[in-house]
Amino acid sequence: MKIGVLTSGGDAPGMNAAIRAVVRTALHYGMEAYGIYDGYKGLVEGKIVRLGRNDVGQILNHGGTILGSSRLKEFKEIAVRQIAVDNLKEKGIDALVVIGGDGTYRGAMALTEMGINCVAIPGTIDNDISSTEYTIGFFTALDTAIGAIDKLRDTSFSHQRCTVVEVMGRDCGDLSIYSGIACGAEIVITRETGFNKENIFKQVTYAKSIGKRHLIIVVAENITDVFELAKEVEEHSGYESRATVLGHIQRGGTPSAFDRILASKMGSYAVSVLRQGLGGQAVCARGIEIKHIDIQQALDVKRTVTDLYDYLPKLN
Ligand code: ADP
Repeated sequence: MKIGVLTSGGDAPGMNAAIRAVVRTALHYGMEAYGIYDGYKGLVEGKIVRLGRNDVGQILNHGGTILGSSRLKEFKEIAVRQIAVDNLKEKGIDALVVIGGDGTYRGAMALTEMGINCVAIPGTIDNDISSTEYTIGFFTALDTAIGAIDKLRDTSFSHQRCTVVEVMGRDCGDLSIYSGIACGAEIVITRETGFNKENIFKQVTYAKSIGKRHLIIVVAENITDVFELAKEVEEHSGYESRATVLGHIQRGGTPSAFDRILASKMGSYAVSVLRQGLGGQAVCARGIEIKHIDIQQALDVKRTVTDLYDYLPKLN
């Protein structure tokens, strides 16, 4: 059996650990392993290279992905996917492990329908894949956000400011609420909480009235312009305010212990699913257990919002 591995969509710390586990597990079972560079784009362009044990040495502890990642809108077209399938068939590759988010899962399902068995592993810092409790990269990105917000807290306190911090997570507020709780933010704004400016001004003004020295507001990306928000908070409350966008630093860095272990387990597990001759499967973590379910079923799982929102202390 020959299997390929690729990373696709937004990168996440821990992807390398997953790649290593896929390759080394495949080799252990006597399979040939192939790395596909630059995601589905590279698959269409034929960037497929055989990998040996040493090719995935010294990568487990590195952020990013040695295989590179990309986005290719045209992969939704059957004619484009057919080129990818032909490239795989030419090399005799029967099956693929893909590591990425929702979009990557859809690509994997479409490829499975065209005769290439695919197993998908959740790799995204956003934790926005509902079928798994945690995605590879989430806790590393969370540590990065926490480190940055802790630093902002130092200066926020010194200068008696209101600090507005934008955290990643376009469709899922987990990075915001987890970092908000961990850093003692007074206000967290995500898609789940909704965005009510008047309410924010009320809370910040109240904080000022009770003599609170400084404040931290965590805002998920894509909600509002945090620089504008900081300006308006200053006008309404009297707190001098500053905004910071954490941005892409959250995507990189050394994967945490949790992400290394999760990725290693999922990579190895994905190969075992392919060895059973299964395709169109998504690997998921439920508690300490690793399982697999149909990709379509995985995509259909309704998102449950973390109960951490209930634990955010109220200002009044
Ligand atoms: P993520 O996997 O992180 O959610 P994207 O949404 O950008 O990132 O998806 C990654 C890639 O998956 C896309 O660039 C595209 O090549 C492929 N993809 C996304 N949706 C589909 C689809 N419906 N059918 C086939 N391929 C898709």
